[in-house]
Amino acid sequence: MRHDLRDLTIIGAGPTGLFALFYAGMRGASAQIVDALDQPGGQLAALYPEKLIFDVAGFPEVLAKDLVASLERQAARFGQPVHLGQVVTGLEEGDGHLVLRTATDEFPSRSIVIAAGIGAFSPRRLPQACAAPWYGKGIEDRVLDPARFVGQHVMIVGGGDSAFDWAHQLQGRAASVTLVHRTDRFRAHHATVEAVQADVAAGRTAMHTFHELYEIHAVDGTIHDVELRDVKAKTTTRVRCDVVLPMLGFVSDLGALTQWGMTLEKDEIVVNSQMETGRAGVYAAGDIVTYPGKLKLIATGFSDAAVAVNQAVHFVYPEKKINPGHSSNLAVFGQKDD
Ligand SMILES: Cc1cc2nc3c(=O)[nH]c(=O)nc-3n(C[C@H](O)[C@H](O)[C@H](O)COP(=O)(O)OP(=O)(O)OC[C@H]3O[C@@H](n4cnc5c(N)ncnc54)[C@H](O)[C@@H]3O)c2cc1C
Repeated sequence: MRHDLRDLTIIGAGPTGLFALFYAGMRGASAQIVDALDQPGGQLAALYPEKLIFDVAGFPEVLAKDLVASLERQAARFGQPVHLGQVVTGLEEGDGHLVLRTATDEFPSRSIVIAAGIGAFSPRRLPQACAAPWYGKGIEDRVLDPARFVGQHVMIVGGGDSAFDWAHQLQGRAASVTLVHRTDRFRAHHATVEAVQADVAAGRTAMHTFHELYEIHAVDGTIHDVELRDVKAKTTTRVRCDVVLPMLGFVSDLGALTQWGMTLEKDEIVVNSQMETGRAGVYAAGDIVTYPGKLKLIATGFSDAAVAVNQAVHFVYPEKKINPGHSSNLAVFGQKDD
């Protein structure tokens, strides 16, 4: 499908991309987002939706998923489209504009902001062959709705932040929580490890270190028990389990973006202070960029987005100023004439 020509197309619906979409609308530019994931929010939605964030200006504390919801509301103000579940693989030039390509669609655009974060990412899968058929049928690699696990026997595999966060948060809600890790070294925040260890000591949570998934046993087509193998003793144990949550981190892939002729440093796009990539009309912002002093934070992603969009708008419409003026004073919001 070939979409209508737009002034600006943003790759990535993370916090940077969502704010860029709002900003484009504020500047009167027609815009759209294309994102590989099936939901907006980037790392916040995929990696830590239930974590509290404390360093976003104006929010003393905010759950990552709530910040995403606010960004979506703000971005939706101008009714610009967000195309989800599409990985951008190609960037071409033709007929005086740029064209982004996915497997199925073409997005012609007068300018582009790449807000692709750490790349299109997907959860790392359990390596055991016996796990593969159960993905989507009892093995779930993302927790989208914790309420779904109420009363379920849950097994979490992993030793990082997500594994420990969910082990702690599901304790008391799930019928049982079992945490499984191949070693006794954890990469999670110390306070969360201590909280889970307290749950284990009190008999509220089970922990199997030096164990790995060995076999899955089903009853009537649903997972009923998981057999774990002690990697040292080579013995196996069966544990009651309805749902397995592998929390093994994510693999991210910049894919085709690295072949678009921009200067890269360690998989980051080098930009100048105008967020220009070196390709005419192509800007970048957020975690994907590097420049002297760059910090990979939500706050700096917002700032990068504002700079990139104002530059892109001026590139497309040279008569429009780079400086946007103050939103508190713009006609687009029904305020005084700008
Ligand atoms: C556990 C954790 C906790 C954090 N806590 C904080 C915190 O407290 N405060 C803070 O400021 N920061 C925090 N961060 C960092 C923060 O999440 C990032 O700085 C922020 O997400 C960067 O936003 P972004 O929009 O630039 O990129 P991302 O959030 O990575 O979003 C990029 C989007 O681009 C999409 N994409 C990539 N490639 C393609 C492609 N080829 N085609 C289509 N779509 C593509 C991806 O699917 C993704 O949705 C934390 C990060 C983690 C992992």
